[in-house]
Amino acid sequence: MITTRFAPSPTGYLHIGGLRTALYSYLWARKNSGRFLLRIEDTDLKRNSKEAAEAIEEAFRWVGLSHDDEIVYQSERFDLYKKYIQKLLDEKKAYYCYMSREELDALRAEQQARKERPRYDGRYRDFEGTPPAGVEPVVRIKAPTEGTITFTDGIKGEISVRAEDVLDDFIIARADGTPTYNFVVAIDDALMGITDVIRGDDHLSNTPKQIVVYEALGFDLPKFYHVPMILNPNGKKLSKRDGAMDVMEYKRMGYLPEALLNFLIRLGWSHGDQEIFSFQEMLELFDPKDINKSASAYNAEKLLWLNAHYIKNATYERLITELQDFDVNIADHDKKEILVDALRERAKTMVEFAQMAKAIIDRPQAYDEKAVKKFIGEDSLEILKRYAAFLQISEKALHLPVDFEEVTKQFMAKYDLKMKNLAQPLRISLVGTSVSPSVYDVLSILGKDEVIYRIEKFIEHMKKA
Ligand code: GLU
Repeated sequence: MITTRFAPSPTGYLHIGGLRTALYSYLWARKNSGRFLLRIEDTDLKRNSKEAAEAIEEAFRWVGLSHDDEIVYQSERFDLYKKYIQKLLDEKKAYYCYMSREELDALRAEQQARKERPRYDGRYRDFEGTPPAGVEPVVRIKAPTEGTITFTDGIKGEISVRAEDVLDDFIIARADGTPTYNFVVAIDDALMGITDVIRGDDHLSNTPKQIVVYEALGFDLPKFYHVPMILNPNGKKLSKRDGAMDVMEYKRMGYLPEALLNFLIRLGWSHGDQEIFSFQEMLELFDPKDINKSASAYNAEKLLWLNAHYIKNATYERLITELQDFDVNIADHDKKEILVDALRERAKTMVEFAQMAKAIIDRPQAYDEKAVKKFIGEDSLEILKRYAAFLQISEKALHLPVDFEEVTKQFMAKYDLKMKNLAQPLRISLVGTSVSPSVYDVLSILGKDEVIYRIEKFIEHMKKA
């Protein structure tokens, strides 16, 4: 059974690079009816790990990912790691090293002077004597000193490194007994039954060390997939300003989760030139072997484009619910479908959607001066006044945009007016600016009484000015 995991260090939120590897791991597990596990790598940062896990779960809930089993916290597994340290010590695959900080610094300085890679020189590897007094030892694992470490990366192909270039007898337990990162990752992945490790390629250099641990403990190696980074459009590491922020920030900025997931799956993986992927299609089509070999560039325009696509195609209920998060409550509005349809083509984010909805539903607090100057002529107020009166006495039931279109045309014919005499002044009186969706949609959404009220208010305002 395929078992994958997402193993974030607890930073207090989930960023999009993390969400992308989580998505890849999730899809691969679910596609294969396998398991997707969550492990918090909190050996250093115990304090925040519960909140961090909660933040990750919140983000997972928002985008619709779920993990199996209880969350594994590394900070709760120290006894287990200790057992494995002891096992390696007993089997002489690891040993105590009594080198002091000063000695280590001196060794490093000598190596640097000789332009060599700084590395531990193995001086306690076979030490049998009496340990020096006053030094709390660290535990080091015996790593191969020659030969190569080779593994097949599912994305990058065969990776082969020379032991002498990348390894030394690295520390697996610090002087205070706490285990180190590469040691616990290997143990956890093995004990959690992880078959496929999908992670950022910033971890590629850790893999040979983890393989040393696997081999020392006799564990089977998982498959590794090292996913190239997401870079900014200038080819640099993605910063917060570029988009490497809390995933929940995308919600606050009005992105739909399906747009974000679609964006992320394409950022580093492709299926022909298809851009739009439903969740179901992602599950059917994703295979980590198709992940791109090179880094991908974050493209904010593309995310907006996808978001607009998903907004355009969302159900009424969905959009009405989403709007509630932005203080727009139209669930009981009798023209909610017309309102939603009028805006779904125009809004790229739910923030814009909400702003545009408010601009229609809320009575104008002010009137755009530039628009007034440009569009309100000498006879505009008179035309508006007559228009309101015409609506008032209209015998036709005024509900739908087409109803308003019909009476408006009758009105213009009666007074021999053109749409340009009426449309912009009417918009300004109704929503305060000359930009809005189709004026007939706005009329229908507001309804006859509200339209007349707003026209009268505008005329009053202009007369006072
Ligand atoms: N905890 C590591 C990180 O957040 C991930 C380790 C792994 O996936 O192996 O970068």
